Amino acid sequence: MACRECDTLQRVSLVAPGCKVLCRECGSFLYRHPKGGIERPLALMLGGLLLYLLANAFPLVTLDIGGISRETSLAGTGWALYQHDMKLLGILVLATTVVVPMTIFSGTLYVLTGLRWHKRLPGIRGTLLLLSHMHPWEMADVFVISVLVALVKMSGMAEVIVGGGLYALLGAIVLGIAARAGMDIFLLWNMLEGIPGRRHVPEGRPGVGEVA
Ligand SMILES: [Zn+2]
Repeated sequence: MACRECDTLQRVSLVAPGCKVLCRECGSFLYRHPKGGIERPLALMLGGLLLYLLANAFPLVTLDIGGISRETSLAGTGWALYQHDMKLLGILVLATTVVVPMTIFSGTLYVLTGLRWHKRLPGIRGTLLLLSHMHPWEMADVFVISVLVALVKMSGMAEVIVGGGLYALLGAIVLGIAARAGMDIFLLWNMLEGIPGRRHVPEGRPGVGEVA
């Protein structure tokens, strides 16, 4: 493993749950083995995904201006920007608040399920690799803060009714953060390497039960 601070390459071994590993040269953090095993992040991620689906199914906020009421959903915010000549911004909002969080919730759940039951599920390596690069693009938490700021500013102009979608989104973000605190990417890779792969039959040679 290479240290992120000083680039020193070092061989690291697995430590007991609750312990963390530091760089031997500069002492900076390398990885930690969280307590609670794989079940805790698995349960949190499952809860997070369910809440995230609810956040997409119900309106985030409803605005009432002079008797005219308009409600918006999570995907509706990006779509509204797209329709009002802000196509690039609309696509970015849709990607960072819908596509990326949905991929992270379902992808992490897929990887954790495979690791929990020691199954090398199809595409599990690719999914873990994708997840390792995807987190900087998840901005659902930034989105919630901006929605709250907008609600405070608009409360003087219109009646603002907070919908069930916003509460569900807040819950999904909290569960997602708690799940990430209970797992470590180095440990996930290490566990994946420990699962035996499928038996490979070389090309040109008959497999079991086949006739040459
Ligand atoms: Zn170091």
